Amino acid sequence: KQKLLEELKGKENITLDGQKVLVYANIGNVGDIGSVLKNDAGGIGLFRSEFLYLEKDTYPTEEEQFAVYKMAAEMMAGKRVIIRTLDIGADKQAAYFNMDQEENPALGYRAIRICLTQKDIFKTQLRAIFRAGVYGKIAVMYPMIISLNEIKQIKEIVAEVKEELTSQNIPFDKEMEQGIMIETPAAVMISDCLAKEVDFFSVGTNDLTQYTEAIDRQNPKLDDFYDPHHPAILRMIKMTADNAHKAGIWIGICGELGADLEMTEFFLSIGIDELSVSPSRILPLRKRIRETNVGEIVDKLGWCM
Ligand code: PEP
Ligand code: MG
Repeated sequence: KQKLLEELKGKENITLDGQKVLVYANIGNVGDIGSVLKNDAGGIGLFRSEFLYLEKDTYPTEEEQFAVYKMAAEMMAGKRVIIRTLDIGADKQAAYFNMDQEENPALGYRAIRICLTQKDIFKTQLRAIFRAGVYGKIAVMYPMIISLNEIKQIKEIVAEVKEELTSQNIPFDKEMEQGIMIETPAAVMISDCLAKEVDFFSVGTNDLTQYTEAIDRQNPKLDDFYDPHHPAILRMIKMTADNAHKAGIWIGICGELGADLEMTEFFLSIGIDELSVSPSRILPLRKRIRETNVGEIVDKLGWCM
């Protein structure tokens, strides 16, 4: 492993025939940033912010969140850090949210649905993220998007946050990139329209598989049925990538499938711009990219397994 690191350190992720791709890391805590740096990732493609909420017995304040996001931005020293806004739900509960028990938590009150109905929680997090953007290259990403109307509402709230920070003379990143997770079939099917409204996409293959195949990703009895390689998923990723590129935005993958070395060729062949994987998977993925010849890849979309 040390040898692999020495071999790859500081090198671009480029295929044999010259196609470049960004390799970023997924993290669930600032404590993970050490291993991100050790494995020489190009950035953080998914910073799951839930831990800030789950670790505590009350809502994290703006200052608490700001300190954490600022530290992440500074530690990454100008490399991109994509912070995903709160993705809590009936499965990942924090008692102080006072959420009802739900029959179908995966289909329930979670993620952006909480943020758009409890605006104060959302605004506190957005203020912290936009403020921290001054200390590095932060991007913000919204989870569980299904509609253009949600994007419209998010934009209104972001505009309010920016106006408030401006009138309070608090510095913030005015040009921050804003992207969305593509992790519902609805988002895939309207990805042509969504692409015109945001700066980037990141495909969450874990939830996209769950919602497309109607399989609860947390039910171990269904493990043999849960299949992220299903042609439906591969076609959806290709469709989303085409729509992203048509609109001139970039697309990444931050679900587990991004780290699957059997899929690297396919992702490169459809022009995926960024793969975000857990820190331990970075070096093997980078090695794989450098061994690939995109020109030789056969089309896998015809597969019906
Ligand atoms: C996903 O759904 O693929 C994803 C990356 O998000 P999470 O696993 O946190 O739901
Ligand atoms: Mg998800």
